[in-house]
Amino acid sequence: LANHFDIKQTSSGTYTKTQFIPPEMANTKKVQDKVAIVTGGASGIGKATVLAFVENGARGVVIADIQDEKGQKLAESIGANRSTYIHCDVTDENQVKSLVESTVQLYGQLDVIFCNAGVMDSGQQTVLDFDLDSYDKLFAVNVRGVAACLKHAARAMVAGGVKGSIICTASTVANLVASTLTDYIMAKCGVVALMKCASYQLGKHGIRVNCVSPGPVATPMVCEANNMGVEELEKLFVSISCLKGVLKAKHIADAVLFLASADSEFVTGQNLMVDGGYAFQGAVN
Ligand code: NAD
Repeated sequence: LANHFDIKQTSSGTYTKTQFIPPEMANTKKVQDKVAIVTGGASGIGKATVLAFVENGARGVVIADIQDEKGQKLAESIGANRSTYIHCDVTDENQVKSLVESTVQLYGQLDVIFCNAGVMDSGQQTVLDFDLDSYDKLFAVNVRGVAACLKHAARAMVAGGVKGSIICTASTVANLVASTLTDYIMAKCGVVALMKCASYQLGKHGIRVNCVSPGPVATPMVCEANNMGVEELEKLFVSISCLKGVLKAKHIADAVLFLASADSEFVTGQNLMVDGGYAFQGAVN
């Protein structure tokens, strides 16, 4: 697109240069006319992905979250026709079922779901001091919640004959070990296992299932869990990334966009690391 400019002379004799998309290239947006659900879409990585889907031509993006004010504000900023906020606690299967049904009712079909809602307890779980109540709560969102979203989205895609794309958020830590975070790491390994089984089982319907595995991004979840601000955390993260840059939610959203689009038409069963080389370090701390 870099070479497509409209150059006009103004009344004062100067020239203006405006970039434009030629009609033959107007449909090159990655998720043109697609309908997508993003769970955990009100904040962090989910919010960045909502915006990336909208920028890339999605005709309907449903933001599913439990942070109603943030979610509604985001949907309003995008516009009522293109985006809708739906309150959905992913730990409640009935709410997930109704989220998918409402999306199909509103926009006619479901092409993409980003199963991304997640929590990270500041409980700093170690094996010797496992708090199994916290473990259950974390698994209810990070594993059961993903399974419920995947199940109901896949059912809607099969019923509608849609060759859709399902993307789940795992984490770089699923490949690492740590002195704490035991339940979080176990849960993310569970998400990768779920993705692998689902991709194998849904392949015959033309449905692709992949994971994106972010490295550390200073989102509200991570800031809260570490009791640190964005700047302080990002400084720390730069020092542990191979690329020596700052990983932002937008980098993860770009990878999700790739997995949602026809650019990854024959990619399924994969766990795409987006971590600036963080996983090479071996251990979390
Ligand atoms: P975030 O806190 O900004 O976003 C998480 C969102 O999930 C929030 O809006 C929250 O309200 C929502 N949520 C939590 N529980 C929910 C529930 N029961 N039902 C519906 N929504 C719920 O944090 P984030 O970093 O953007 O996290 C998004 C995903 O990325 C999570 O799955 C997280 O585990 C994963 N992840 C994050 C990082 C990181 O460094 N930020 C790294 C690897 C993986």
